[in-house]
Amino acid sequence: MEGLMMDYPLTTNTILEYGNSAFPHKKLISHLPDGTRHEYTYGDLYKRTKQLANALTKKLGINKGDIVGTFAWNHYQHVELYYAIPGVGAVCHTINIRLSPQQTEFIINHSEDKVIFIDASLVPLLEKISAKFETVEKFIIINAPENFTTTLNNTIHYEDLVSDQSEIYEWPGLKENEACGMCYRSGTTGMPKGVLYSHRSTYLHALTIQSPNAGNYSNADTILLIVPQFHVMAWGFPYMCLLSGSNMVMPSSNLNPQALIKIMETETVNKANGVPTIWMGIYDEMKRNPPKEKLALKEYLVGGSALTESLIEGFEKDFGIEGVQAWGMTETSPLGTASRLQPEHKGLPNDEKIRIRAKQGIEFPGIEMRIVGEDGSVAPRDGKTMGELQVRGVWVIRSYFKTLNRENFTEDGWFRTGDVSTIDADGYMTITDRTKDLIKSGGEWISSVSLESALMAHPKIKEAAVIAIPDTKWSERPLATIVLADKEDTVSEEELKQFLSLNFVSYQIPDRYVFIDQVPRTSVGKFDKKEIRRLFSEGELS
Ligand code: AMP
Repeated sequence: MEGLMMDYPLTTNTILEYGNSAFPHKKLISHLPDGTRHEYTYGDLYKRTKQLANALTKKLGINKGDIVGTFAWNHYQHVELYYAIPGVGAVCHTINIRLSPQQTEFIINHSEDKVIFIDASLVPLLEKISAKFETVEKFIIINAPENFTTTLNNTIHYEDLVSDQSEIYEWPGLKENEACGMCYRSGTTGMPKGVLYSHRSTYLHALTIQSPNAGNYSNADTILLIVPQFHVMAWGFPYMCLLSGSNMVMPSSNLNPQALIKIMETETVNKANGVPTIWMGIYDEMKRNPPKEKLALKEYLVGGSALTESLIEGFEKDFGIEGVQAWGMTETSPLGTASRLQPEHKGLPNDEKIRIRAKQGIEFPGIEMRIVGEDGSVAPRDGKTMGELQVRGVWVIRSYFKTLNRENFTEDGWFRTGDVSTIDADGYMTITDRTKDLIKSGGEWISSVSLESALMAHPKIKEAAVIAIPDTKWSERPLATIVLADKEDTVSEEELKQFLSLNFVSYQIPDRYVFIDQVPRTSVGKFDKKEIRRLFSEGELS
């Protein structure tokens, strides 16, 4: 028998309608790339989004199912795009500004972006490759200074597009399982893969991350969104803030520690998010130049890479600010777990509490997780048995865009994360290793396999194996081990960096190169990265 409750689709439009109805006075504050400050309310956001929806459909000819790209910092215009694009039934495709020109070109052509909204300060990155775009009809320039010029064809300024439009717009009827957002994730080999979020997954993810066991956000909070809007929909925060009634503060390109601390001071920010590299930078800066008045900041949510015990401890001891570890992936919208203490932990010694908080944590309702060993059996939750972390749930991917990638899914419908983990008897998951051959540096992926193929194309190199090594600032950095074709030959690090810069952007290029006689191999002849990592950690590679 069917229940007799209304069929009320969970769409981003219902989030915007709710934000306007329940929290019209709450603020969206942006510190823009030119250093100016912009402030308006969720009521204003609502009207502007409707103007933009009119512009998208009437002026740009965007239809249901079209893909609309954004290449932009965190600010109010980008939030307007987060609501207006899915609102008219199109897909908001946020393009990562930090990828190599080849990856960016691939992503834009593969997703078939019809138009791209781009920050003026980022235009030079696309100017170099725009001639190769196959589907892009127009570029809409955001935050252009007065004397702005570009070689991009068919451009129009954002305000010229939006400001003369009506504030009245009737949302089209949307089904909750239709696509609303899209993000590409870097692969181990080959080009990035697209993840397509639905309205329903986006709504339920946003609703859940405000809950106390997750992010714990409410209308009493002012949140600084440091996680870029071009990274997994800014972890869903632009949607979550309208559901929870939290004020939203956007830093755009003002991302150095001094600028972020200043924004937190000016806007009395009490919560924030970001990757460990950002929080490491903020901590170091606060140690060097302690803020004159105590910050309002009480809690920061960290994900993307591991938040270390030392950072949790340092922030808390020195400044009384709590770090909360969260785990997630592009494929899981992204947030799946968080690590918070429970009343049962109250009596534990402090170092034990910190050890628990440094775990990746407990899954949110809507997400299931399990650990599977190499023999295919589900591992016990004993905190010791390691295996691959597999997840399924409401906001977990079931197929990549235009390609299933069967190897990423199990036959019984779980997504294989590529993270090696344990789960303890209390349900806390801990990541211990990674099976995917990727390095995560400052929140961005670097493919070790791509670096190896590029290095092995160098005439003097016979073999190259690249591993991730721990780094206090960036979480991880690549280290290249190299076997020369001719042992008597030499090649300098500078020459190799120069060589790699033809195909990689600077943060992807290894800073360290170690010349070895042969690369250790597994029994089936593959590079044995585990063994190389062991040699490195025991100081045998230098
Ligand atoms: P991305 O899809 O770029 O967000 O990357 C997801 C991957 O980042 C995960 O599969 C993990 O390998 C890693 N990751 C995310 N959050 C954490 C965390 N809190 N601790 C350790 N690794 C993490």
